[in-house]
Amino acid sequence: MVVKVIRCPSCGEVIELTDMYEGMEIHCDLCGLVMIVRNNELLVLDTNEVYSIESLVYEEEKEEFEGEEFEEEEYYDYDYED
Ligand SMILES: [Zn+2]
Repeated sequence: MVVKVIRCPSCGEVIELTDMYEGMEIHCDLCGLVMIVRNNELLVLDTNEVYSIESLVYEEEKEEFEGEEFEEEEYYDYDYED
């Protein structure tokens, strides 16, 4: 079961995590980046950079259709004078 889908902060590869726990190592298959789960952040081992997990979460086609139906048809009444 995939619990979280994130994007690699280095190459942007989508990484599916089937588990997530403190101290867990995450490897990016594409660029080989190794990250460690720490609180709600990911520590990149190579660079010691820290990314919040939420900022890396890959959201799949979130359905946001709200606001789409704003196209109200407005009828203007033109008074034709002749
Ligand atoms: Zn990567």
